[in-house]
Amino acid sequence: MAQNEMAMQFDSRSSNEGFARVVAGAFALQLNPTLEELSDIKTAVSEAVTNAIIHGYPGRIGRVEMRARIDGRVFEVIIADRGVGIEDVAKAREPLFTTGYGAERSGMGFTMMETFMDELEVESAPGQGTTVRMLKRIGREKDPEKVR
Ligand code: ATP
Ligand code: MG
Repeated sequence: MAQNEMAMQFDSRSSNEGFARVVAGAFALQLNPTLEELSDIKTAVSEAVTNAIIHGYPGRIGRVEMRARIDGRVFEVIIADRGVGIEDVAKAREPLFTTGYGAERSGMGFTMMETFMDELEVESAPGQGTTVRMLKRIGREKDPEKVR
């Protein structure tokens, strides 16, 4: 399959973290990923969705959007909220930076997304929301001789 797209929206409830993670993984399966590649995608999506839920909409329920696209062997996923936004994106992306309270957050979400995916773009504006775009190349070029 050369190209495919999906989009969905869900409430910013923590019960939807697992839901979004499974949907992204199921969609990515079309690329025939290894278990490791699949787990990388699920983890990265899970981190981005958790951020939208916890940081994007603190103390209220808002809408989270997830869009995914397959193009050749590239998997692209976008997770967007229309919540509080991030004042300083470069700072937020630094390892261990967190505005979370107590011992719950470690400030490693963006670092994990960066590690597990090939590209990470974060666009955000205070009061407008945050859009995270991630990209991962799956597998190697297929040998045309071996394609059935
Ligand atoms: P961890 O992910 O390890 O539990 P964390 O969520 O604080 O901790 P990151 O995911 O790296 O760490 O995010 C860093 C910081 O960026 C957050 O503490 C928060 O201030 C900000 N942030 C991230 N995503 C969003 C978002 N969608 N909306 C608003 N702020 C965000
Ligand atoms: Mg996080």
